[in-house]
Amino acid sequence: MKSWIESANKPESGFPVQNIPFGIASLKAGPDEDVRRCVTAIGECVVDLAKLETCGLISTGVDDFGPVFDKPELNDFMSLGNVVWKRVRTALIELLKEDGNSALRENGELRQQVIIPMENAVMHLPFRIAEYTDFYAGRQHATNVGTMFRGAENALPPNWLHIPIGYNGRASTVVVSGTPVYRPNGQLKAPDAQMPHFGPCKRLDIELEMGAVVGVSSNMGEPVTVAQADEMIFGYVLLNDWSARDIQAWEYQPLGPFQAKAFATSISPWIITRLALEPFRVSTPEREKPLLDYLKEPGPMLYDINLEVEMQSSTASTPTTISRTNYTNLYYSAAQQLAHHTSSGCKMNTGDLLGSGTISGPEKSGFGSLLEISWGGKEPLKLEDGEERTFIEDGDKLTLRGWAQGEGYRIGFGECAGTILPAPDIGSNQKGHRHEN
Ligand code: MN
Repeated sequence: MKSWIESANKPESGFPVQNIPFGIASLKAGPDEDVRRCVTAIGECVVDLAKLETCGLISTGVDDFGPVFDKPELNDFMSLGNVVWKRVRTALIELLKEDGNSALRENGELRQQVIIPMENAVMHLPFRIAEYTDFYAGRQHATNVGTMFRGAENALPPNWLHIPIGYNGRASTVVVSGTPVYRPNGQLKAPDAQMPHFGPCKRLDIELEMGAVVGVSSNMGEPVTVAQADEMIFGYVLLNDWSARDIQAWEYQPLGPFQAKAFATSISPWIITRLALEPFRVSTPEREKPLLDYLKEPGPMLYDINLEVEMQSSTASTPTTISRTNYTNLYYSAAQQLAHHTSSGCKMNTGDLLGSGTISGPEKSGFGSLLEISWGGKEPLKLEDGEERTFIEDGDKLTLRGWAQGEGYRIGFGECAGTILPAPDIGSNQKGHRHEN
């Protein structure tokens, strides 16, 4: 399937007509400058969905709901469910493919208003994050971290093969790709120190994850099955769960990570829909221990998605790829995690974000965090310009990329990037004046 927008047909384009991702953009200039609206991407352009909806070329088909795309967030559209998502996706494919509906293709004036070169658009958070939960579903990651913290014999916690373990994170500091991230300050205590001190994190890390975006809400007191959970998921984003390892090591027992993860989580601006990923479904790995019935999968629930991490210092001319792995390295799918989340009766809402857990492959070249790549800081990593790293330094830029490879096309996730800024000055921070300086 080809598009009449040529840039979408290049084999390396992440946004062919098969993708149809959803995001929020504003324009860099013009009368509508700064107005956020819902968009999709095709090749090197974004497509204004608010305008297409106004002129009747796309519609949710839900009469009493009103327009959903002239909004600064996708939550209303996401709440409407699979039938509506499919209806809008199908209409957009028809409008953008080579021999489909010509209403946009052959209307020069409309085309001018609706099809915007990507370089003229600014991408924003695609949805209002309701709540953010982070899981721990990568077996290699859990084994690596457990080996470093507790020894090889106790690497996997006893519950790990039975429960998709998670913790409730912060929605307030989920930011879109490109947003700079301050190095956090926090309580630190060296193992041999008598007292903790307060200061900048010295072991700042990434976690390569995928985020599942909940579209349809569930009700309090009503658990959902894995199959129902899968249908509730609108789509997926790349997610970097920035982590302060030294703050984490001191604070995490017994309630888990707190400030070590609360300062920032970055996501990519495009939500890649579950519908676009259907051809890439893959089963979770063989179960080592049988799962309880409520967690059993009725079919393949993971996806074959290639993932990469790049690191670039402020002085380097080129980035270094520091990890290559695949989403299939997870032990639990997002649908299983979501079903587990509701199993107690917990209500899930439109806009809830579920982090997969760090996705590490079996080899060092596929580890999804610097903690693992540098094995706790003992084995520095060499970047292409000769610099060495154990953890992240100020000015470093970290970029996640992902794509599912089809025959002659790829479903791209775009990128999820963030640059680290020096920690806020502790003195001025305590006075609360940082943002006024
Ligand atoms: Mn994480």
